[in-house]
Amino acid sequence: MRSLKNSFKRHVLAGLVLATLSFAGQAQTASPAPNTTGPGAAGVDNALLYAVAWKQTAAEYRALYYQGFNVARMHVQAALAKRQPGDKPLAVVTDVDDTVLHALNYWGHLVNQKKDFFDDAIWDQWIPENKVTAAPGAAEFLKFCADNKVEIFYVTSRDQGEKTYEYAMGHLRHLGFPYADDKHLTVLRDTSNKEKRQDEIMTTYNVAVFLGDNLNDFRRKYYIKGDVDKRLELMDADREKFGRDYVIFPNPTDGHWMAAIFGESEPPPTDANREKLKKAAARSAWQGK
Ligand SMILES: [Mg+2]
Repeated sequence: MRSLKNSFKRHVLAGLVLATLSFAGQAQTASPAPNTTGPGAAGVDNALLYAVAWKQTAAEYRALYYQGFNVARMHVQAALAKRQPGDKPLAVVTDVDDTVLHALNYWGHLVNQKKDFFDDAIWDQWIPENKVTAAPGAAEFLKFCADNKVEIFYVTSRDQGEKTYEYAMGHLRHLGFPYADDKHLTVLRDTSNKEKRQDEIMTTYNVAVFLGDNLNDFRRKYYIKGDVDKRLELMDADREKFGRDYVIFPNPTDGHWMAAIFGESEPPPTDANREKLKKAAARSAWQGK
C-alpha cells in the first residue's frame, strides 16, 4: 500500500496467499474451517462496512475535513501576519492519501469484492487509474496557500514499483493541486519514516502547519507496533500540538493505528486478525446485566 512494499514483500505476500488458499483447500476437504468470521456469501458481515459507509456518506466525515482545512488556514493566515523581512519563507507540509485526496471508490470496490482488509494488490491496480478525488476543502486550502506564496510540500509513503513517483505526481496534477513538481513532492518508497524529509524542509522554511491522517505523518515516534497503550500515551503527551502544529484528519479504514493493534499497518485478512480486531473493538466492554 503506502510503504515498505517491494518485490520481496510482494513475493512473500503472494506465497502467504497461496499457502493460505492451499491450507484452506485442505481444511475444506478434511472438515469445515473453524472460526471463520470473514465476509460470508452476501458480504454483509464485512468488518469494513461501518468505516467505509461512514467515509462514503457521513456529512460529519466531510465536515471534519472542512474543519481541518479551516484550522490550517487560520495558522497560515497568522503566520503570514507575523512574517518579518528576512524570515525564512513559509510552507505547509502535508501527507497525501486521506489528507488532501480520497480513495473512496477503492474502498467501495473492496466492499463489493467482499474484502474486509486493505488489499495491496488491488490498491496497486487502482493507483494508476487516477480515480482519486480531492478531500473536501483541500483544493481551496492549497490554492489559498499558493495565492499567498506559501509553498506546499507533499510527503507521502507509497510503492507501486518504478512508476510510483509518476503515479503520485499524476494524482496531484489530475486534481489540479499547486506545487505539483519535483521540488515539492517527495515519495518515500522504502519507508514510512517522513521525519528526515520534514527536517530538511524545516531548515529552509518556516512550516506554518503539518497535515496528516496518521500521527506518523507528524513525527516518527508515534509509529508504535503492537502496543495500543504506548501509542495513546505518546499522543496524550503531545496534546497541545493538535490543532496547533498538527492538523489531523480522520481515517477509520487504514493507517498506523492498525499497527498498534495488529503489529503491522497492512494485516492480512486472516481469522486470527479478525479475532484481534474484535478484541480491539471490545477493549472496553460492559459486562451487561
Ligand atoms: Mg495518509
